[in-house]
Amino acid sequence: MARIGDLLRAGPTYSFEFFPPKTDDAQLTLGRTIAELEPLNPSFVSVTYGAGGSTRARTRDVVTWVRRETEVTPMAHLTCQGHTRAEITEILAHYRDANVENIMALGGDAPNDPAEVAPSDYAFASELVADIDLHEYFSIGVAAHPEGHPRSPDMATDRRRLADKLRRADFAITQFFFDVDHYVRLVDELQALGVDKPVLPGIMPVTNKGQIQRMAQMSGTALPTWLIDRLAATDDPHEVRKIGVHVATELCEALLLAGAPGLHFYTLNRSTATREIYANLKLAAAH
Ligand SMILES: Cc1cc2nc3c(=O)[nH]c(=O)nc-3n(C[C@H](O)[C@H](O)[C@H](O)COP(=O)(O)OP(=O)(O)OC[C@H]3O[C@@H](n4cnc5c(N)ncnc54)[C@H](O)[C@@H]3O)c2cc1C
Repeated sequence: MARIGDLLRAGPTYSFEFFPPKTDDAQLTLGRTIAELEPLNPSFVSVTYGAGGSTRARTRDVVTWVRRETEVTPMAHLTCQGHTRAEITEILAHYRDANVENIMALGGDAPNDPAEVAPSDYAFASELVADIDLHEYFSIGVAAHPEGHPRSPDMATDRRRLADKLRRADFAITQFFFDVDHYVRLVDELQALGVDKPVLPGIMPVTNKGQIQRMAQMSGTALPTWLIDRLAATDDPHEVRKIGVHVATELCEALLLAGAPGLHFYTLNRSTATREIYANLKLAAAH
């Protein structure tokens, strides 16, 4: 069974997200990380999709490699940004031939370098979901933004568009966040709109202060005052990581208690923080 929609129906899923390596060294690190995480028996792993250029081919290569060479179920991310319909059809045909059944359908963001901006036949993720769905083969995931997407005019509009997108998709994975209330509110508001598809919370363990501040700003995630205060107490990278793992463990416990259908970890291609949270939650034994 390798369709994520089916896996979610069968019980909680625990999954890891990677980004495609840019260099041979990074490729080695990713290979090591996947090997270190495989014993945790992830329900699936997902591989992100770059804004343009060569990393896009690497996503396809890593996903196809995981499908062929490991026992782990992969999911390929795909974006509207910079793709024609013909290109999407070709990519989906490749995945179908490779028995990759799971696609994360995303809007994507324009590349920073204007020279890299390519024409797009799709404006919004919902259009990509509709095209992927026509194949009647893939299990489709979409992005959810618990604190609202930065380009949404208000929360009610954000939720309405997410609900429309999810009616056709099988599940959502959220942007990272630090307060369980953001997740509970998202799920409640989707239910009020008549949508009860599984929403997997995305967990980002803080391992580096500067990095989390940049990522939070880009994604529209608020760093809560209690977290800023806790991180302000130290400049020792080991201590920061320890706080990050502790905070993520508490968040995961609260999410599972609140009924989350699983946990999706943003690994940033490193295994240590995720393995520590797994150990704290005693997931390796239970799973
Ligand atoms: C779990 C997860 C994984 C991700 N992986 C990647 C990745 O691999 N590669 C990558 O480049 N990015 C990735 N992203 C980031 C994502 O691409 C960006 O957040 C992007 O800006 C929005 O993507 P989306 O799929 O939510 O887009 P959309 O659903 O298209 O929404 C984007 C904005 O458009 C608005 N909108 C939607 N429909 C309409 C409409 N009909 N009319 C007007 N406005 C509309 C929405 O309200 C929202 O503000 C990921 C995000 C998450 C949460």
